[in-house]
Parts: sequence; C-alpha cells; structure tokens
Amino acid sequence: MLQKVLIANRGEIALRITRACRTLGIKTVGVYSDADKDLMHLRFCDEAVCIGPGASSDSYLNIPAIITAAEITGADAIHPGYGFLAENAEFAEIVENSGFIFIGPRPEHIRLMGNKVSAIIAMKKAGVPTVPGCDHAVTIHNALAEAKEIGFPLIVKAASGGGGRGMRIVENVDTLLESVQAAQRDAEMWFGDDTVYMERFLQKPRHVEVQVLADGNGHAIHLYDRDCSLQRRHQKVLEEAPAPNLPEQARADILEACVNACKLMQYRGAGTFEFLFEDDGFFFIEMNTRVQVEHPVTEMVTGIDIIEQQLRIAGGLGLDIQQEDVKVLGHAIECRINAENPYKNFMPSAGKVDTYMTPGGIGVRIDSAMYAGYTIPPYYDSMVAKLIVHADTREKAIAKMHRALGEFVVEGPGIKTTIPFHEKLMENEVFKSGKFNTKFLEENDVLNS
Ligand code: ADP
Repeated sequence: MLQKVLIANRGEIALRITRACRTLGIKTVGVYSDADKDLMHLRFCDEAVCIGPGASSDSYLNIPAIITAAEITGADAIHPGYGFLAENAEFAEIVENSGFIFIGPRPEHIRLMGNKVSAIIAMKKAGVPTVPGCDHAVTIHNALAEAKEIGFPLIVKAASGGGGRGMRIVENVDTLLESVQAAQRDAEMWFGDDTVYMERFLQKPRHVEVQVLADGNGHAIHLYDRDCSLQRRHQKVLEEAPAPNLPEQARADILEACVNACKLMQYRGAGTFEFLFEDDGFFFIEMNTRVQVEHPVTEMVTGIDIIEQQLRIAGGLGLDIQQEDVKVLGHAIECRINAENPYKNFMPSAGKVDTYMTPGGIGVRIDSAMYAGYTIPPYYDSMVAKLIVHADTREKAIAKMHRALGEFVVEGPGIKTTIPFHEKLMENEVFKSGKFNTKFLEENDVLNS
C-alpha cells in the first residue's frame, strides 16, 4: 500500500482525500497557496508545504513547486483531486518520470480523453454510442459540408473543452461560419487549442453518467449511474444516484458498454463516462479521467469508498470488489452549495464566515472544508460545500434534503450562498417528478416559482 500521499488540491476534495488516507493509515502531505494557509485539511495532514502565491497559476497549477514538495517530504504518490492538474497528461507524466505514483489513469488515457475528438473515435471503436456528428476537426473550409450531414440545430464544441465553456449552438446555416470562427477563438483563449468539432444539438436531453473503477490490468466494474441534468450554464448544480426513470434495458446496455470500453483500454483508476440521454438512447459526450465532484452520491447508494479504491489501485492492491458485489441501495442527492447570490444572478461572494452550523441526522453527509472563522478567498471556485443525503426512496431523499438545507447556516458579512435556491428546488413539482432535462433550470425561474 501507499505510504505517503501528497494531495495536490485544496478545499473539500483535499479534505476528502486526507480523510480517506488517514482512515487507511497512509501519511499525508498537504500543499497550499499563500491565500490558503487556513485550509481545514492542513490541520489533519502530517506535513504541509506552501507552493506559491494565491493565483492558481502560481500555486495549484505550478508543477515544479508540487514536484519539489513531493521530493522534500518523501511522498511516494500524488493525488490530483479534480480540477487544477487532475486531467493534465503532462503533469501525470512528470509525476511518473520523477519517480512518484500518479493516483489516476495512465497519461495516455488522460491525453486520449482530454481531446474530445480522439475520445469520440475511441468510444466508437469500443462500441459506445456517440452523439451523431463528426469525429474530426471542423474549420470554415469543411463546416458547411459537415453541417449538411449533421443537420440543424448543431453545436460547435472545443476539442480540449471543459467546464461548459466555449460551446456554440447553431440554429441554421446563416450563422454557421461565424460560430465556427468564434468557437475557435474561444477555444484558443480558454484552452490554448483552437480545434473545434460539431455534433447534433439535442433539444431536451438528460445528462446521465456512469462511474467506473478499473485496476489497469483488465479488471473493470461499474458503480451504476448518476443524473446530472440540473445545470446552470452547462455546469452541474445538483446530482443524484441512481438516475430516475431510466428504462432498465437501456441502463443495463450502457453499463456493460462502459465496462467493456475500460477492459479494452486496460483503463486504470476511477473514471466517468458522460452521456446525453434522449428518446431512450444514450449518446457519449466525454469521459472524465478523475474523481468527480458528484462521486459521493454513488458512494452513498453503493457503500463503496471511491477514493479508497483509487488509493488501492494506485498502491498496486487492485480492486477488491467484483461486479456482483455492487448493489444500489436507496437514493442519494447532492446539492452543490456555492458562495454565490442566487438573487443576484448567482454573483460570487467572498469573505469571512462567522456562523457555520451544519445539518445532521441519519443519511446526511457534508463534504466541505468550511468552518466558523474561515475566510473564503476570492481566487478559486465558488463551490464551498456539498450537502449529500441518502434515503430509501427518491421521495424521502428530497424530503430529507429539504429539511437538511433548512438547518444549514453559513453566514458572514457579504456572504451569500445557493442554499435558498436549493430549498426552492426541493419544493418544485417538476423536480419532484424526476422528469426534467438539461434545459430545465434555463427555462424555469425556480427561485421565484
Ligand atoms: P464540458 O466538458 O465543457 O463540461 P460537455 O461535453 O461535458 O462539456 O457538456 C456539458 C453540458 O453541455 C452537457 O451536460 C449538456 O447539458 C450540454 N451539451 C453538450 N453537448 C450537447 C449536445 N450535443 N446537445 C445538447 N446539449 C449538449
């Protein structure tokens, strides 16, 4: 097993990984920026190293500083969490070439899936259904011919895209070429790669994804599915497991296809296959080669600790679970609590948290690095807590979430959170019915309904 893990991240996921390591008796090294010396997980880490100033580019994205921290502390492995360097194939390569274990997939698989065009080609080969579209780059020279094949509306997407950025919906041929050019500019600006591609724009899809675990030697399992259709600006707001109202045969087929793809690739570690689901069909959009923000809902319904499995796999212990051991029990929901003002178009807020009171009771889990007296720095993502509940049924989980949100107090001068938004969501009849798609939050004013 691993002896000492450096956690190259911050916030709730750094704490989550620290906890998993401590439970397994693995020593931990925390790293932090100048703006983050009060991070909660640093209190529990065996060692802590400052890796640079507040801006992420100088600290959490500073590869030489992270490698140096691992060297001086004698860590044997590095866990990247999510975001920052988690899906940077070059980082994974440097980690391995520097003699450390990268807790994640092989660099070649990160690279393959990091480019959505090569990911789509790989999935087609593996028999995973993809969105009708083109599996090569689009420029103003071939866009028209490709668009005729795909049909309108279509969506232009950055091959290296992420975080819901740089996608352009094209309704008809009139705006095609300017959209391709604009998407190329966005892609270059956000991702340093102007490659874009096109696929059919599905009108009312759900976002359904499949969690997998694999040992790198051909043993792979799935941990069932999650629904992440509730999104703002293509960013997830709430996730649940299992995905409600899925036809059983379609579910069984897609789970099998994902596991087969992992076996074929000899994939290693945790991963998520993301799909759009429309008219009873699944269409692959991308694979995330890391642990995801929403992994707790899967942990709650399966009882499997995904971070523990990542550590086991990285430590060479393999997977200690067979597919038949994985059972889904009840229903879990996660609300992402962001330091944003839902009444002011979700404007980010930062500042000191004076009062922090957390909900509790059976089946209530909070993954957060906040505490009373903590100052939310302005540099990073606005997600400050994840509230997760588990109950026998979806209906009971919604009731429990509503109750738990009502108990959750995060207050301080200037601090606003999305808690009131989630409370309204729990009261919403469409949400309760489980019959919503990715357009739901765009088309409905949940807060004022
Ligand atoms: P990112 O990597 O930036 O998160 P994804 O490809 O995962 O981008 O897509 C994010 C979200 O954007 C999806 O969950 C969905 O809501 C929307 N989306 C992406 N592709 C399509 C499509 N072809 N049709 C309709 N919606 C789409």
